[in-house]
Amino acid sequence: MISSSHALLALCAGGAALAAPGLGGMLFGARGVESGEKRTEALWTSETPSIEPCPRLEGERRVDLAIVGGGCTGLAGAYYAKKLRPDWSVAVLESHRLGSGASSRNSGAVYARYWGLDDEEMPRRGFERLARFIEEEEIECDFRPSPTLELFASRRSAKKAETCLEPGSRWVPAEDLRRGAHSDYYAGAAQLPGYYTVHPGKLVAGHVRATRRLEVDLYENSPVVQVKKGNPAVLVTPGGIIRADHVLLATNAYTPRLGFLKAAMMPVHQYTFATRKLSDSEISGYGLDRWPLRFERSILPVTNFLTPSGHLCIRIVLGYASFNSCVWKDIEGARYLAKRMFEQRYPWIADIGLEQGWQGVTGHTLRVREISGPVMGANIQSAVAFNGLGIMPGHNTAYLSVCRITGHPDQDLRYMLGKGAQIPIPGEFYRSMLLKPAMKILTPDQSARLS
Ligand SMILES: Cc1cc2nc3c(=O)[nH]c(=O)nc-3n(C[C@H](O)[C@H](O)[C@H](O)COP(=O)(O)OP(=O)(O)OC[C@H]3O[C@@H](n4cnc5c(N)ncnc54)[C@H](O)[C@@H]3O)c2cc1C
Repeated sequence: MISSSHALLALCAGGAALAAPGLGGMLFGARGVESGEKRTEALWTSETPSIEPCPRLEGERRVDLAIVGGGCTGLAGAYYAKKLRPDWSVAVLESHRLGSGASSRNSGAVYARYWGLDDEEMPRRGFERLARFIEEEEIECDFRPSPTLELFASRRSAKKAETCLEPGSRWVPAEDLRRGAHSDYYAGAAQLPGYYTVHPGKLVAGHVRATRRLEVDLYENSPVVQVKKGNPAVLVTPGGIIRADHVLLATNAYTPRLGFLKAAMMPVHQYTFATRKLSDSEISGYGLDRWPLRFERSILPVTNFLTPSGHLCIRIVLGYASFNSCVWKDIEGARYLAKRMFEQRYPWIADIGLEQGWQGVTGHTLRVREISGPVMGANIQSAVAFNGLGIMPGHNTAYLSVCRITGHPDQDLRYMLGKGAQIPIPGEFYRSMLLKPAMKILTPDQSARLS
């Protein structure tokens, strides 16, 4: 169920492809990140003490392991590499600021399961590893269990869900949602066990501190524009180059821009809108403390969450921008759609007002699994892609990737899916031509604005 709806999401998201930004002038060098990408700050970052800036890579360096991408996956990879091989020199190259990608833009939901995988033991070990990391590194990031609702908008889907509740879940009828959550939009919900939430900005800052402590070399504003195969491999940035025995790509949705995995993954854009900070009485009055995390399992998922500081947020899926662009041009359209979807569900939001919004991208595969393994020669590997819940799987994939790179045995290495195990994604032409009608049906307002 999860797999198929997310596979469809990845396909349908392609329908927004006619919002094609021009290719000219977008490439930074031969390959790499888009020069026009300006990342506005997410609420989480504005609530986190600023991370001390890191230098730009200048000149030439030689290292044992170079990691491209300084989000939580890349930073966790650097952390575990130094833990497993303290004698190795490890460098992280980040094109913008550390953690400024999806890692600081997400909804902060953490779950001890992998979407697209039935096995429960391996994700449980991954979850425990992340929890141990937070505890041992004393990262204060509001990591805690969170009462969570899975909401159903149609009576048909609610009826079906009620008859096949997972163990430990409890059914919440529409009437209880009307009274307890002040919403008559939904036909019912399942209260799910096992969800945690975390403050993404504080988690990113904790990752940076932990890697600094282990003397990982961190570089910001150092986009890798070219990866040259060989032993050592060579990473080219505008300011300098790094020769590395091993390379790990932790570039998530931006990976196709770097020239890798174009046929296995694609970036999908999301937009999050936050209210002003709510008072304690508003929070309890609207039942937000009872169910701080709520999501709709639909083809285009919608998530609502209350931040630890008291902002209520909605996160919506926008779609795919042509040529694997990670820039969403129509931010006004995104705000409009998010506001409308927010008010549809919770009409009282109109009186409260919306304050801050931010865009983000996630890397999707049709197999609903991350891609980890060699991408170019045996010494250039990837640990990328998200399909629903990426905070824990990203951390776990980073650990397992460096296990493989350093030769450290782990029972869970067998779960790593390389690019060969992924389902091929249709090329740009088909994404544009075949999927646009589907997108129009799913998000009529937005498609109208985009065409
Ligand atoms: C709106 C939104 C909501 C989400 N909600 C949740 C949630 O509730 N729960 C959950 O578990 N997950 C969620 N996710 C997914 C989660 O945030 C990601 O799976 C996770 O942060 C991935 O981390 P990462 O380090 O792999 O990627 P990123 O944080 O995207 O890091 C990749 C980094 O690579 C850098 N980079 C790219 N190209 C280059 C280059 N050429 N050279 C150098 N650096 C480069 C980028 O600048 C970026 O910083 C959400 C994501 C979004 C966008």
